[in-house]
Amino acid sequence: MGYVDEVLARVREKNASEAEFLQAVEEVLESLRPVIDANEAVYRKEALLERLVEPDRQFKFRVPWVDDKGQVQVNTGYRIQFNNAIGPYKGGLRLHPSVNTGIIKFLGFEQIFKNSLTGLPIGGGKGGSDFDPKGKSDREVMAFCQSFITELYKYIGADVDVPAGDIGTGAREIGYMFGQYKRLRSTYEGVLTGKGLTYGGSLARTEATGYGLLYITEELMKCHGESMEGKVIAVSGAGNVAIYAIQKAQQMGAKVVTCSDSTGWIYDPNGIDVALLQDIKEVKRARLTEYAAARPGAEYHEGRGVWEVKCDIALPCATQNELLLEDAKQLVANGCKAVCEGANMPTTIDATRYLQENGVWFIGGKASNAGGVATSALEMTQNSERLSWTFEEVDSKLKQIMINIYHNIDDAAKRYGMEGNYVAGANIAGFEKVATAMLAQGVC
Ligand code: NDP
Repeated sequence: MGYVDEVLARVREKNASEAEFLQAVEEVLESLRPVIDANEAVYRKEALLERLVEPDRQFKFRVPWVDDKGQVQVNTGYRIQFNNAIGPYKGGLRLHPSVNTGIIKFLGFEQIFKNSLTGLPIGGGKGGSDFDPKGKSDREVMAFCQSFITELYKYIGADVDVPAGDIGTGAREIGYMFGQYKRLRSTYEGVLTGKGLTYGGSLARTEATGYGLLYITEELMKCHGESMEGKVIAVSGAGNVAIYAIQKAQQMGAKVVTCSDSTGWIYDPNGIDVALLQDIKEVKRARLTEYAAARPGAEYHEGRGVWEVKCDIALPCATQNELLLEDAKQLVANGCKAVCEGANMPTTIDATRYLQENGVWFIGGKASNAGGVATSALEMTQNSERLSWTFEEVDSKLKQIMINIYHNIDDAAKRYGMEGNYVAGANIAGFEKVATAMLAQGVC
């Protein structure tokens, strides 16, 4: 049995109940085969892969808090510090009822390679809780966040582990968490990113993941002799990533005709009205039915269906495993040219394979949504300098980072004879830097 297969077998055995984590490890190790085969003796002796798939440490803790009725509630908190070979652990905090160890581990594992791809000195980590901020009052969210940080503060710090937002963790939650950290530590430091602009946040962080997704998509199209002008785009999701992806796509002259949330989706043949969407999702925190009610010509459909719409480019920006094999077939049948992931692992492995085998240019989330964490790292830099850069300064650095990522993953794929396989290219480029750093630092 080859080294990759041996490690995969062991990972499956040890983590049998963690489906998403297994999916992420399989996807990465499968595409790293040529690199690993070329260096097998060294990697095997140093147990490099065994060390890579085992988190440095994981914390799981009780988060008790009191609701508005005076009832004590208990949630579970998680933080997984996966790998700090190239910098302090960095990765978001997901607050969603679906959160469990397997999901946090898959996200933390992916984060190692994504962070490496940014070219910035940040390691991989992830955390969160099964707490659902939806439908909770501000006071309840604050009570949860304060309790969560009362445990987590022991393990994080500006040079140790710097968490950020993710699904369910927006500016409000980061604010409450930062306040509690500051109180417990008596220290003012950039321990979290995604902070408000009045207390150390970076301009353009809110827009960064969506904008970055469009910058890399534009570069991909350009390198294939195409422009964004006039392209029809299908987007899923209606959260932070989706909203700013739609906004930047429209600034580039493309037309985005769909968006979705966890209950239904919108088809708007005239192009999504971003201001209206922002008002519904960011201000009123309401459902998409309100969008269709306010926008003539737009249709609301229950359930899923975004990928049935004819488009040139598809940008899945909602959640993991939301683009399935049947969706991939539909996209190919409709002549879709490119799929770039805004969310983390939104496309299943069989759907990814189908898209690649049928000539669709496919960039996986590790590369295409790295703009968020890259800008978080720029926020860390500004905090260390005790300076704030302008929107244009941050945005232009973000754009350059995304263009560099495209060329790095393209080059890595070509070096191993897999031209056009950007998934393999991203895994290889991300892995090479981390592996070199791990080998240089000895057995640890
Ligand atoms: P948000 O919570 O802001 O938005 C998520 C959106 O996806 C919401 O519209 C939500 O609907 C929808 N959604 C959630 N679950 C489902 C589902 N099962 N089916 C259909 N729609 C669903 O999160 P973000 O926009 O921040 O994150 C989206 C994805 O991008 C995640 O995978 C995240 O990990 C990833 N990501 C985010 C980054 C960031 O900077 N924010 C950085 C890199 C990756 P509803 O409104 O009903 O909840």
